[in-house]
Amino acid sequence: MTAWEIKGWCPGALRPMPSGDGLVTRIRPPLGRLTPQQAEAIAKAAQAHGNGIIDLSARANLQLRGVTEASHPRLIDDLGAHGLIDRDVETESLRNLIVTPFRDAETTALADALTAALTRMPKLPAKFGFALDTGPRPVLTQASADIRVERAADGQLILRPDGHALGQPVTDLATDAIAMADWFIVHGGVTDGRGRMAALIARGAIPEGCNVAPAMPLPTPRPGLHRDGALLALAFGQMRAETLTALSALGHEIRPTPWRMLFLLGATTLPAIPGLITDPADPILRITACTGAPACPQALGETRRLARALAPHLPAGQALHLSGCAKGCAHPGASPLTVTASDTGYDLILDGSASDTPSLRGLAPEALSAVLKAPHAPPL
Ligand code: SF4
Repeated sequence: MTAWEIKGWCPGALRPMPSGDGLVTRIRPPLGRLTPQQAEAIAKAAQAHGNGIIDLSARANLQLRGVTEASHPRLIDDLGAHGLIDRDVETESLRNLIVTPFRDAETTALADALTAALTRMPKLPAKFGFALDTGPRPVLTQASADIRVERAADGQLILRPDGHALGQPVTDLATDAIAMADWFIVHGGVTDGRGRMAALIARGAIPEGCNVAPAMPLPTPRPGLHRDGALLALAFGQMRAETLTALSALGHEIRPTPWRMLFLLGATTLPAIPGLITDPADPILRITACTGAPACPQALGETRRLARALAPHLPAGQALHLSGCAKGCAHPGASPLTVTASDTGYDLILDGSASDTPSLRGLAPEALSAVLKAPHAPPL
């Protein structure tokens, strides 16, 4: 297995993370939404101060790539002028909140209240986060979060610790959320500054009063038109600044989602903008690929160009995880087909994760399309 560097913190805008292609600068959209003007400003900043590439993270944040030490201060000034920068690193790092893109006025008010409460939380691990999933039925259950705000089948709000099937009824969201975060700390959820709610729950600890089931979750939505707007997918959760500029020109509020998709509020037609995927049958949507080489310094091989080349050869209905190393950042769990870059080429893993024992080792990129068509056949 390849060794990799485990980072215990998440990048922000004020504290970017060095990567193979410069500083990764992560913008956390306030209340999970962007005005067209903010989106346009982000696109301009990505071109002026980065390499023009924008990632959509699994926590519904936007990351500008290729920022330099020299360009970072000007980037912060430009984004700050549009209300996209927190007052300091501490405030920014506390704002780990994913808000459902399908929301009503009540959810927006709850997002406001929870955002304000985040500044009064006890000191939580950097990756500890909240999900405000208060549509009629949860849609964020697969997104990373430690404390989830959901609705029961009768519509009442509940606070559910991640890893436990039931939640506690909410009396006052801010007070109750802080109390559950306190409970996490008091019950030993943090070790050496790290810890996640699901791990604590798995050790048998459960907060009092968690006896209400959430409404039945909905499956992850697909690209296309929805009741209040359009979901537009990005291959590997990445776009060029030009795509965001074109999208902002349509004049709609943009809500980043944790599904590698942007929700365009109020859109009644699907925009034809290069870089946006509107067809749910597009095979590229069945491939998960991490950043890979050269942008990730830990990568042992290229991933995304290869993924685009492999997409037309992927058998119908088949999903593929393509990883630049055994860390498997893009898909930590098992996948029916995983291709992991290694020191000797690409390894094929069946029904496993990127770090599991391969069935085939050291494959050349050009051999992969044939292997994917018949992964159980003898080596070529
Ligand atoms: S899995 Fe991909 S993004 Fe993660 S460290 Fe390895 S190469 Fe980099």
